[in-house]
Amino acid sequence: MKSMPDCLFCKIVKGEIPSQQVYEDGDVFAFRDIAPQAPVHIVVVPKGHAASSVADLTPQNSAAAAKCLEAIAKIAESEGLGSGYRVITNVGQDGGQTVFHLHFHLLGGKPLGQLVSVSN
Ligand code: 5GP
Ligand code: ZN
Repeated sequence: MKSMPDCLFCKIVKGEIPSQQVYEDGDVFAFRDIAPQAPVHIVVVPKGHAASSVADLTPQNSAAAAKCLEAIAKIAESEGLGSGYRVITNVGQDGGQTVFHLHFHLLGGKPLGQLVSVSN
């Protein structure tokens, strides 16, 4: 499994940096965001450094994203988010991305409104 020595999320997957883990399977790791933006805010990452963001997806590595989305459905259920939630992925500088290891934010635990916020 591809791992990058200086990548924060690779270090979290390996346990080199502690996290509040909420889910793990053979392909996916999920943990609570250190700066939660909603009552439930979980970061879901492929264990391998498959891509830096969805902008880097190809037919060769897109299964990593699909595995994350499949895991999100399971995590949402186990977190009691049956009434709904939001999945966000930031891309690049203007997208607010700060960690360049493909990941998805799972946000919920309160009504989030109809529109995605674009404030900063
Ligand atoms: P991005 O901004 O790249 O989409 O998301 C990176 C996320 O990682 C941010 O929401 C940030 O709060 C979270 N984060 C950064 N460092 C850590 C850390 O050491 N532990 C955890 N659990 N989350 C982190
Ligand atoms: Zn990584």
